[in-house]
Amino acid sequence: MTAATGPQALPPRVAIREVGPRDGLQNEDVILPTAAKRRLVEALADAGLTAIEVGAFVKPQNVPQMADTAELFAVINRRPGVVYSAIAPNVVGAKRAVAAGADAVQAFLSATESHNQSNVNMGVEQSLANVADMSELVRSAGKPFDAVLSVAFGCPFEGHVPIELVLELCGRLLDLGAEQVTLGDTTGMAHPVLVQQVVTAFRERFPRQRLRLHLHSARGAGLANIFAALQLGVVEFDSSVGGIGGCPFAPGAPGNLCTEDLVHMLHEMGVETGIDLPALMEVSRMLEGMLGHEVPGQTIKAGICKHLTG
Ligand code: ZN
Repeated sequence: MTAATGPQALPPRVAIREVGPRDGLQNEDVILPTAAKRRLVEALADAGLTAIEVGAFVKPQNVPQMADTAELFAVINRRPGVVYSAIAPNVVGAKRAVAAGADAVQAFLSATESHNQSNVNMGVEQSLANVADMSELVRSAGKPFDAVLSVAFGCPFEGHVPIELVLELCGRLLDLGAEQVTLGDTTGMAHPVLVQQVVTAFRERFPRQRLRLHLHSARGAGLANIFAALQLGVVEFDSSVGGIGGCPFAPGAPGNLCTEDLVHMLHEMGVETGIDLPALMEVSRMLEGMLGHEVPGQTIKAGICKHLTG
């Protein structure tokens, strides 16, 4: 299939990183047993996801849902070619991630002081100092290291986040050794015009850098934001199977972008993902069973358009 041509041609293929096992499950009241998480991660890889965020190395008292991440890494049957990653807030977590066998480690910090304090209980400068330590440790272990900048499109506490601030923090993260920066719309405040403004400004400042977007759909704009980014040639996105999760530390913030909704739209437009959509739908159904409730994704309710299944 070739990409649709329209006012602006879309990229022929995009890479999706699945964040459901981490960003999704950490926002659930139910704490899944390690064996269930293992089934989820393995089923996602079987459905064609080639990058999976498996868990987080954070304090178990802060995020009990992620307490077994090391055990999970130890039991998952790894599919060749799949990157099984973890996030960590500091060098202690990064050390545990490397020891557990994470293929890649991701640091995270927020663009605003208030969100960073709320999320990790420290200032942005302290988080940047942690990133420096983590970068050295992870890269000397020979693993890829990248960083996500949360609330890059708006902050639930501070509102508008200046693009200049986002760019400055991206520059510092890249200087500290992050191979890639992911911009997070942590509470779903982005809209298509803002996405294009931020992506354009990022490209102008860092013309040779790959950019990944972690978009949410808390206010329904997630897929529109994806389309806005695709039009500018962004080809790397995060999403969560079933649309579960979001940021548990921000008020009113459910709404990770749903992987099967994203894949459905992309395939309809002729943009390849390498993902087996019917298999992914099965994973989402299995997840509903594990969680004991419906997932927020929409394709699981409406079904796959017939011409995409055959
Ligand atoms: Zn998220």
